[in-house]
Amino acid sequence: MELYYTEEQVMIKDMIRQYARTHIEPVAGAYNEKGEFPQKIIRELGELGLFGMMVPENYGGSGAGAVSYSLALQEIAYSCASVAVTLSVTNLTTEPVKNFGNEEQKRRFLIPMASGEFLGAFALTEPDAGSDPSGLKTQAVKKGQRYILNGTKQFITNGKFADVFILIARTSQSRGGLTAFIIPKNTKGLRIGREEKKMGLSASNTVEVILEDCEVPEELVLGGEGMGLKIALNALDSGRIGIASQAVGMISACLHEALTYSRARKQFGKPLIKHQSIANMITDIKVDYDAASLLVWRAASLKDNNIPFTLEASVAKLFATEAVNRCAYKALQVFGGYGYIRDFKIERLYRDARVTTIYEGTSEVQRIVIAREVETK
Ligand SMILES: Cc1cc2nc3c(=O)[nH]c(=O)nc-3n(C[C@H](O)[C@H](O)[C@H](O)COP(=O)(O)OP(=O)(O)OC[C@H]3O[C@@H](n4cnc5c(N)ncnc54)[C@H](O)[C@@H]3O)c2cc1C
Repeated sequence: MELYYTEEQVMIKDMIRQYARTHIEPVAGAYNEKGEFPQKIIRELGELGLFGMMVPENYGGSGAGAVSYSLALQEIAYSCASVAVTLSVTNLTTEPVKNFGNEEQKRRFLIPMASGEFLGAFALTEPDAGSDPSGLKTQAVKKGQRYILNGTKQFITNGKFADVFILIARTSQSRGGLTAFIIPKNTKGLRIGREEKKMGLSASNTVEVILEDCEVPEELVLGGEGMGLKIALNALDSGRIGIASQAVGMISACLHEALTYSRARKQFGKPLIKHQSIANMITDIKVDYDAASLLVWRAASLKDNNIPFTLEASVAKLFATEAVNRCAYKALQVFGGYGYIRDFKIERLYRDARVTTIYEGTSEVQRIVIAREVETK
């Protein structure tokens, strides 16, 4: 596999693997079991430069690029999918400021975001608008040099701990009348609502964000009024590389768990792996791992080379997230009854895998994107 990566990319992967196996792997189970947000780990990841890998050095990042970022995220997800999604959303949030922010916005927000000082959240979804953002109801009404925002954002990852929100609201009734705002956490009128209890990703934070006459100065509009949908879709293209990378890391963990267990456990006088049905499941996981890795690498490489990657990011997201679900199913099957018991990591992997086909565009939405892109190419 290393054929596809530069020496520097392999070095970054090895460094993050070392960190994750030492500092995340031993404590991930406990954080998830308690449903506790791993603040110390997230702070350390910021200090390691993982919030700014796709941000140029002059704005506080490392400029390491999307392939390096994808590899780092895979290593984190191998140990803890909750930490991985926290990281992935933070990186997604830097993209709109990097791509659409003016100089003042970049200095004020991108530098602290990329250097690990600010945690970001991306607030698009609403109770009545998930797959279809044109249904957004949050209103931003201009009054003098300010916008007054009212509405509710749903399922916002990192919300309770975020220093800054990239939030999309409606500024006109036309279908495309959406605008992106940068909103610092202590802005008057923004408050955190209910925290969701989830099937998995229990150490990640998912909350409602409520806007009640929230006043945002006009200089915090990102990219100009009416640019919200374009900015959100652009950010989601990159975000999908992140979620696909999360899935690849989790597939790698499924492979490791299934291999280790099937070598050690004996039934009918021989290790499980010597039974062909078990070996076949492990083989299928390995094939999915290789295919998903390459698809993610392709999308990330295109991004690094400034070549459009909307299609490839959706292909990678669709394939990798569907794959991690079948891989977690098979790996758990290898464990038999023990796979159903909380003491084993595979039980957490199985639950954590489920959401990957849902957030940042469901599998059905990825198919819509892929069909549209294929049709027009
Ligand atoms: C743990 C978690 C974290 C999240 N984090 C964030 C976040 O940080 N920021 C944020 O903005 N959002 C976040 N989300 C929201 C997530 O992106 C949405 O849940 C997702 O986009 C789907 O929207 P929905 O849940 O409203 O489902 P719906 O859009 O109501 O879809 C329901 C079902 O209908 C299908 N469907 C919808 N439209 C079509 C169509 N045209 N054709 C075929 N099928 C269709 C969907 O695929 C799905 O199967 C998060 C969600 C979760 C669960």
